[in-house]
This record gives sequence, structure tokens and C-alpha cells, in this order.
Amino acid sequence: DTLVNQIAAGEVVERPASVVKELVENALDAGATRVDIDLEEGGARLIRIRDDGGGIPRDQLPLAVARHATSKITSLEDLEEVGTLGFRGEALPSIASVSRFALTSRPDGAEHAHRLEVDGGRAGELSPHPHPPGTTVEVRDLFYNVPARRRFLRAERTELGHIEEWLRSLALARPRVELRISHNGRQSRHYRPVGGDGEHLARVAEALGPDFTSQCLAIDHSGAGLRLHGWVGLPTAARSSANQQYFYVNGRAVRDRIVAHAVRQAYADVLFHGRHPAFVLFLEIDPRRVDVNVHPAKHEVRFRDGRLVHDFLYRTLHEALADTRA
Ligand code: ADP
Ligand code: MG
Repeated sequence: DTLVNQIAAGEVVERPASVVKELVENALDAGATRVDIDLEEGGARLIRIRDDGGGIPRDQLPLAVARHATSKITSLEDLEEVGTLGFRGEALPSIASVSRFALTSRPDGAEHAHRLEVDGGRAGELSPHPHPPGTTVEVRDLFYNVPARRRFLRAERTELGHIEEWLRSLALARPRVELRISHNGRQSRHYRPVGGDGEHLARVAEALGPDFTSQCLAIDHSGAGLRLHGWVGLPTAARSSANQQYFYVNGRAVRDRIVAHAVRQAYADVLFHGRHPAFVLFLEIDPRRVDVNVHPAKHEVRFRDGRLVHDFLYRTLHEALADTRA
């Protein structure tokens, strides 16, 4: 089974940032309000994610690292409307097969925590362990037993950059969750939790800087059973980066050609030539009208009615941008 997991890891675990993504998503699925991310050497040496979420009961710990053992969906119908970020039950066994891995958890109401170590896919015994309510996952020496993959890891700075970029995208979507990131023992980012909806913009400022928030336009429009809300950067702002493009479908960060096209077209048609659109936009859609089960890395989605989504995005943005020129 270790081999099967290592092969699956090829799909799920590309680099330290993919590990961080899977583990932090698990923390959020468990209802965490605070997640601590400790890294060493760009994550290659250590990734430790601690959360204050619901935890895992002792007898479920071995299951959590077993293949296709997800606690999140139980039927095919559930797959039609997945409400959690994870649902495949692949991440933990995959990661544990290519690292020195430890899962420590104390579920709600339990007096003690337990720890399960897995070394390169071989699980050890459960042992009691001191830990506050919640879960800690430690991933040491990623790819230590897959030298060909280990060699593909880039410089510490590069790997850290990927991790921080992914966490930025997450921070934008989850303003209420506190995120602390440390690298080689020093705090590198701290996203403080913000309260009400009105404060979401404070998180955006924290994540993207004042360049974006000082020159942006709030969007909130509903129609055809869809809702688009968030902010678009106004082209008058001097953009330091072409990459401030964040789009979420039901809270999940997504890269999608239909979306990209609609946004680009709306900008182009209001004649903001030569500018990179900058945006943080959230599309809310009935989960049955979108398929998130496309790829394990899950950046892709498939809309049941792509045309309708495209036109809704285009019209909403076109109208909002055109208003600013009137
Ligand atoms: P998936 O997220 O697709 O269900 P994973 O392999 O990522 O699969 O996780 C396996 C299972 O382990 C999850 O379904 C969940 O029950 C449990 N789990 C993993 N991480 C956590 C966590 N931080 N807190 C609580 N439960 C967790
Ligand atoms: Mg998961």
C-alpha cells in the first residue's frame, strides 16, 4: 500500500506548498479558528500545522492515514454538493508515505491527546501525548525516501514563496481565521482574525497591501441564482504586481478559463488597455451547479452552465467598471 500511496503522492504532493495546502484545508474543515504554520528550510525540513479544530478521536487516527478514508462524505449524493475543502481521503496517506510524519490530536471533550507516527508510509503504535484540544500534523524531511522528487525541490526562498502565496490566497477567503506563519523560528506572517463582514477588507489590506485596497471597487451583485462579491482593483492604481488575481467559487480558490475570460473581457471592453486586472472575487453558486471533483489539486472546477456563469460575471463587472468611468 505504501507504493500506491507514494504514487498518489505524485498527484497530490508536488512540493511543500501542496502539503501546507492539504493540511491547512483539513484544519479549516475541522472548524479551526486559528492555525499555526511552522516551517523549516522552505518546508523541506519541517512543516508543522497546529489547529484548534474539532480533532480526531483516538480510534480514528489510524483511519485518517489510511487510503480513501475520508470522514467528510459518505455517499455519491454528498459528492454532488461537497461542503468541505477535502473529500478524497488521499492527502494524509500520500503525505505520510513520502515523509516522516506524525499526527497528534485531542478531540473535543477528550481528556488526552494521542499521537500516531508514520515513517515513509509505515505506521507505528498509538501513544498518549500532551496536546491542547485540536490537531497537530508534522511533516519532516519531505521526499526523504523518494530522492528523485527530493531533487526537484527548489531553493528555500522559492518554496517558502509558494507557501506564502497559497496562504495569502487562503487568508483572503477566510478573514475570521487567524493564521500565523513562522519560518526557521521567526514569525514571517501573522494574519489576525477580523470580525464582521465589513472588516473583510481589513484582511484584504493585510494580504495584498494598500496598493490594492486604496484603489478598489466593492462588488456585490446577485442574479440568476448566482452572487458575485468582493473587490476589483481600479486601473488608476499603480500595480506593483500582475498577480493580484484571486477568484473563489464557494470559498474555494479556483483557476478557470471561463472566469479568466469573463474578467479580462469586462476590463478590456471598458478600455482599460494594458492594465492587469486585479481582483478578489467570490462567486457563490448552488454546489450542484459546479463540479469540484475534477483534479486532486482541486484548483479546477467545471460549471454545469459555463455560458451563464460567464455572462453573469462579464455583465456584473462590466457594469461596475463602466459606472466608475461615467
Ligand atoms: P480528506 O480531507 O479528503 O477527507 P485527508 O487525507 O486530508 O482526507 O484527511 C483524512 C481524514 O483525517 C479527514 O477526512 C478527517 O476526518 C481527518 N483529519 C485530517 N486532518 C484533520 C484535522 N486537522 N482535524 C480534524 N480531522 C482531521
Ligand atoms: Mg484533506
